[in-house]
Amino acid sequence: MFKKLHNEAFISYKLKTVSPLYIGSHNEDSLNPNAVDNSFLTVYRDGNPVPVLPGTSLKGVLRSNSEKILEGSCDPLRNNCGKKVDRKKDDGTARYKKSCPVCKLFGSTALKSRILFGDAYPEGEYKIGARKSVAIDRITGAAKGSALFDFEYVEDALFKGNIQIQNFFKWHIKLLIDLFERINEGYIVFGGFTSKGFGRMKLEEFNIVLRYYDKSKCSNEYIDKGFYMEKKIETFEDIKNLLQNILLTKNETDRCEYNEKAI
Ligand SMILES: [Zn+2]
Repeated sequence: MFKKLHNEAFISYKLKTVSPLYIGSHNEDSLNPNAVDNSFLTVYRDGNPVPVLPGTSLKGVLRSNSEKILEGSCDPLRNNCGKKVDRKKDDGTARYKKSCPVCKLFGSTALKSRILFGDAYPEGEYKIGARKSVAIDRITGAAKGSALFDFEYVEDALFKGNIQIQNFFKWHIKLLIDLFERINEGYIVFGGFTSKGFGRMKLEEFNIVLRYYDKSKCSNEYIDKGFYMEKKIETFEDIKNLLQNILLTKNETDRCEYNEKAI
């Protein structure tokens, strides 16, 4: 079944590393001292290895932090919203209504995610460093004797990425604004060794393109592109000011219908 597309938001951002960043090529959580190497996760672009900040990592970090911001969020591991849904009877709207705010945006086992995170890649120059660390037991969190292993990290990099939201509400964008502010403040960090100060990042650039398919919902600030109306907001401050009156309350996140005016 195809869902009607009302609107889309396309966000482009650049995050600069403030401290070293380690995204393991095996698994972020498993700092396995027996692994052959603990190099930074890379992909090949034009035949050259390039470090990557995977969209799935970003989504995971931002989702778990959204659970702290939004009241009434489920615990995805225990009582996730997917379990509340009657898969035979509930249509998309019913599934959405039964979901907590975080699942409404990030999806669950019963609801498709509305937000897509692309992989982020460095723009321009960056540095690769290497350090030794004590191996950590994954279960106990204690140091495994004095065994040292090498790992690689990225420094002085500017990661460029994008986020897309389909059928968004204002509070979805507001949530992202809050999350990026927490990144800037150092409350949200990425990758491994964060207890050693790794993984801090800062927003350098942010812009958003809003697209509406129902032209009657758009103010005259939107440009008619034929099948849709579009508006670009160039800076983080501008979008923050536009959404300053939106509060991340239950009242706001419970909205289900597309009866809002365009921002
Ligand atoms: Zn949920």
